[in-house]
Amino acid sequence: MAREYLKKAKLTSRSGASDVHATVQGILDAIEAGGDAAALEYARKFDQYEGSILLSEAEIEAACALVPEKLKADIRFSHDNVRRFAERQKATVADVELEVVPGLIAGQKAIPVDAAGCYVPGGRYSHIASAIMTVTTAKVAGCKHITACSPPRPGVGVAPAIIYAAHICGADQIMAMGGVQGVAAMTFGLFGLPPANILVGPGNQFVAEAKRILFGRVGIDMIAGPTDSLILADSSADAHIVATDLVSQAEHGYNSPVWLVTDDRALAEAVMDMVPKLIDDLPEVNCENATAAWRDYAEVIVCADREEMAACSDEYAPEHLTVQAEDLDWWLGRLTCYGSLFLGEETTVSYGDKAAGTNHVLPTSGAARYTGGLSVHKYMKIVTWQRATREGSKPVAQATARISRLEGMEGHARAADARLAKYFPGENFD
Ligand code: NAD
Repeated sequence: MAREYLKKAKLTSRSGASDVHATVQGILDAIEAGGDAAALEYARKFDQYEGSILLSEAEIEAACALVPEKLKADIRFSHDNVRRFAERQKATVADVELEVVPGLIAGQKAIPVDAAGCYVPGGRYSHIASAIMTVTTAKVAGCKHITACSPPRPGVGVAPAIIYAAHICGADQIMAMGGVQGVAAMTFGLFGLPPANILVGPGNQFVAEAKRILFGRVGIDMIAGPTDSLILADSSADAHIVATDLVSQAEHGYNSPVWLVTDDRALAEAVMDMVPKLIDDLPEVNCENATAAWRDYAEVIVCADREEMAACSDEYAPEHLTVQAEDLDWWLGRLTCYGSLFLGEETTVSYGDKAAGTNHVLPTSGAARYTGGLSVHKYMKIVTWQRATREGSKPVAQATARISRLEGMEGHARAADARLAKYFPGENFD
């Protein structure tokens, strides 16, 4: 049976991309030419903000005092889980050494980048968890300078809970600046910041495009655009839980795709019936986002069997992938393209988004075909080194000289010859 679309998307997350590119390029050019003053001008224009850009200790303390104790405890709980998971990841990055030929030792080291710029989105929602995910992981990786940057709310500044989270997770500077201007300020080293070596964190299409344009000049974690989620469900799934989970991810934004892939038509129809009702029951802004996302971007696909469902999922390469089906081990073994996988009804994407310990900064728009999400590894450079004894140098020098000459690279060949002549005078190496 061919895949059957009970609901097909009208738009994709790439819709409108060329307009965004031109806008973002213009802002970046203006800020590069105009420095701090130009960035401030955009902060006024887009966020109606005239307050402090780099928060002082007193401002951080005052903001932290506004956060309710229970929320502080929840933020510390999430921070602790993310920190411990990142520490476990870091333990997998081993320095290695190998005697490649007798007397020539090559090695690998993992070195954290010096300055990390963490973008914490804050336009529609206060993404407290993004501060935890990006700053904690940079800290565990060992970055020496961590800037957390988040959009100020018009007239009032960055949400206090974001400031608290960034502060306790280890940010050295907290910057009240959003969008392209925030990304540009961290990259160009405005307002006295050290220029970032890597930019991380999710954001809207303007933030994602700024990171894409700046990549090369600065490292990036990935293009983390509008969030997307796919649920694989078979006849054992609970339609209400499936529908609730789809709605939970559609509320991210008007352009956040959610997809249901199933081999059970009756389940698909039950979920399609429930979703609009669950969306209508959300608070107003969330309802607007989810309504548009469900109308324009969502898909419901019926497949013949679980093999076809898995193939379909790998093709979409979703950021978040949930399996609510029997035989979870089969799915864990079979699926290959996803940012983060949520196996079984007892966990959900919301856990991973907020507090379960795995990182929520994940590849969107199909990027899970070639990358995973944010981890300590993204902040670390895997570099190599080598050293040799004179004996170890001998066979490598001979091979190097011959390969170089065949390539026409006489200078390279002579660097090898010079060693052979110095260490083994009188020997013939033709
Ligand atoms: P945001 O912080 O990304 O963007 C807000 C900024 O956008 C503002 O400060 C403003 O400067 C800029 N902006 C707004 N309109 C503009 C315009 N017309 N031209 C230029 N700049 C403009 O916050 P957001 O908008 O709420 O977006 C957050 C995004 O992050 C969502 O798409 C959400 O799905 C995504 N997200 C993804 C993940 C993930 O892991 N992939 C996690 C959390 C959030």
